[in-house]
Amino acid sequence: MTKHCRSLLLLLTLPLSICAQADEDADTLYQVSTIDALLAGVYQGVAEIADVLPHGDFGLGTFEALDGELILLDGIIYQAAASGEVKEMPPATRTPFISVTHFAADQRLSPPPDQNYETFKTWLETRLPSRNIAYAIRVDGDFKSVTYRSVPRQEQPYPPLLEASKQQRVFQQAQITGTLIGFWCPAFTKGVNVPGFHLHFLSDDRRHAGHVLDFDLTKGELEIDLTNGWEIMLPMSPPFLETDLGEDRSAALHSVEQHKSTP
Ligand SMILES: [Zn+2]
Repeated sequence: MTKHCRSLLLLLTLPLSICAQADEDADTLYQVSTIDALLAGVYQGVAEIADVLPHGDFGLGTFEALDGELILLDGIIYQAAASGEVKEMPPATRTPFISVTHFAADQRLSPPPDQNYETFKTWLETRLPSRNIAYAIRVDGDFKSVTYRSVPRQEQPYPPLLEASKQQRVFQQAQITGTLIGFWCPAFTKGVNVPGFHLHFLSDDRRHAGHVLDFDLTKGELEIDLTNGWEIMLPMSPPFLETDLGEDRSAALHSVEQHKSTP
């Protein structure tokens, strides 16, 4: 229940329908900017994460100047820097792109043991109730291996993400316990978010994290949160307003997602 809803309850004047409406906000994917703006190189921070946190305690994104991968888990913001270092970031940190929700599991599933990312995707996609809503996805498990990347901080003028991602650092950890955090979005969100899976990883000891490229899941527990609301905060900053976002950047996104080695 939201703070707003709670305060109304205290006044004892709350119509039930308003409370239901407020509760539905919990199933909203809230995002700042669009994936295509990020692909185009709009890395200027356009929101403070403090302003995003009321919309969710779970999610992913990146930081101003593309300074590493962002993981939001249980309301704590983690930066996975390209150096390999993972640290907690203050809410005053700025972001050019972030997707969050209030995570509340609607379904719990036990994936078959020993799955890699590809077999996991196929397995889970056949179990999603519909391909026309979004899902927040959380997997807590033991991994035989996890391959993930981070991107280094960029200087202005910012290159497109496809260029910047060529400087990515790829990491692999063996025999590690941790959490996959992310979303599955419908195909029609192309240009706005990442269609299909987008997962970040955070180890239990909070020392390893990044954007997931591959994994070998020994065993784990999967929680999915059906997410049928969508709220997008479009930046009013000149870099966003002046970028041509009419172009189809699917091929660039696909390439960015597929980069598996550090050149
Ligand atoms: Zn990512």
